[in-house]
Order: sequence, then structure tokens, then C-alpha cells
Amino acid sequence: MAFYWLAFLAYTWGRTNAVYGARMKTEDVMELQEPRLNTLESLFVPAVLAGLGTTITHLVKSVVGRHRTLQYPEQRREDRGVLDGGMDTQRYRGVHRLNRDEQGRVKCVACFMCATACPAHCIHIVGAQAPWTDREKYPIKFDLDELRCIYCGMCEEACPVDAIELTYEYDIIGLTRAEMIFDKEKLLTIYDQTVPRKPM
Ligand code: SF4
Ligand code: SF4
Repeated sequence: MAFYWLAFLAYTWGRTNAVYGARMKTEDVMELQEPRLNTLESLFVPAVLAGLGTTITHLVKSVVGRHRTLQYPEQRREDRGVLDGGMDTQRYRGVHRLNRDEQGRVKCVACFMCATACPAHCIHIVGAQAPWTDREKYPIKFDLDELRCIYCGMCEEACPVDAIELTYEYDIIGLTRAEMIFDKEKLLTIYDQTVPRKPM
């Protein structure tokens, strides 16, 4: 038994040496020196002054009306450039939509890839045999809990037929939890409302 342990340790040491030892070059090694601080720096005086400067800059911008705070809902982020406090509508991940195909049918083929990829487990699908000849299945139920969602976009990435998409809609309003569980019809309605703005 001891022999096997010794052989295993020798093999492991040899592999580690071969993998790491062989690749490590002297020029790859960096020696980092701790920066020397003077008395003021060690008391954080420059950092505090820099922070105060930032605060005063924002204060002045607010007073002269050049601050980037938006008067929502009169002003909307999608109407402004990113550097002006707006949003990049091509990248923003907001409310979902279920896309339709050219014939107006739901594009989803009920493959469950989005539900499987979803880290928040907020997609619930019930599939059934499709009444059409070009696919096997379609969703008779497709619920997405918008309150549970973390808007990571994994569902969109996982979908093989581009059936689910995140729009840049961020007006998510509901008075109850149940209202925030968007069903298939609601997700299709969001598609109908946002499709003129394609591509998302
Ligand atoms: S955006 Fe992320 S959390 Fe939300 S439904 Fe898609 S996969 Fe799930
Ligand atoms: S939305 Fe896409 S990934 Fe999700 S079940 Fe439908 S086809 Fe599959």
C-alpha cells in the first residue's frame, strides 16, 4: 500500500513539475514592490480631497442644471446617448418577448433549452404536439416570472430558434406578484408592441 502511495506522489510531483515548472520563465516572474507613501498619503488626505472634489463637481452640476439625473417618466433613457445618461438599447436587457414567425405563430418549439439554462428557474413551459407540420412541439403554456428573473440573457443565448428575446423595455408595472408572471399571450403581445424597433 505504501508503495502505491509513494508511486502516486512521485507521479503527481512529476506532472506538476512538467506542467508548471516547464512553462515558467524568468521573464514571466514579476516582483511587485509595495508603494512608499508619504505622511499625507498614509493619512489618506489626497484620497479624501479627490472624493470631496467629485462630490463638489456633482453638486455644482446639479445646481447649474447640467446633472444627468433624468426626470422620469417625462424624460426617458432611450432618448439620450449613453454619455448623456441614456442607455445603449442594443445591449440593455429588459422585459422578455416571445417572437412570432413569418406566419404570426409563436416561434418557440418547446425545447426547454431556455428553462434549462435559466439560473433563476423562472421559466415554466408546458409543451404539446404542434398542430403544424414544420415542427414537432409548441408551448401551450409559457410562463416567465419577471420578478424572479435576474435579466442575465441566458435564455436568449440558449434558444436555438431565436424565439425568446430580451427587449429594452424597463417599464415593468404590476400591483401583485401574479401580474408579474408573464404568460405566453403577454409575451407575444410584447413582441407585437416592440417588433417595429427590431433589431433589439
Ligand atoms: S434573463 Fe436569465 S434569469 Fe431571466 S429568464 Fe432569462 S435566463 Fe432566466
Ligand atoms: S423559447 Fe427557445 S429555448 Fe425556450 S423552449 Fe422555446 S424554442 Fe426552446
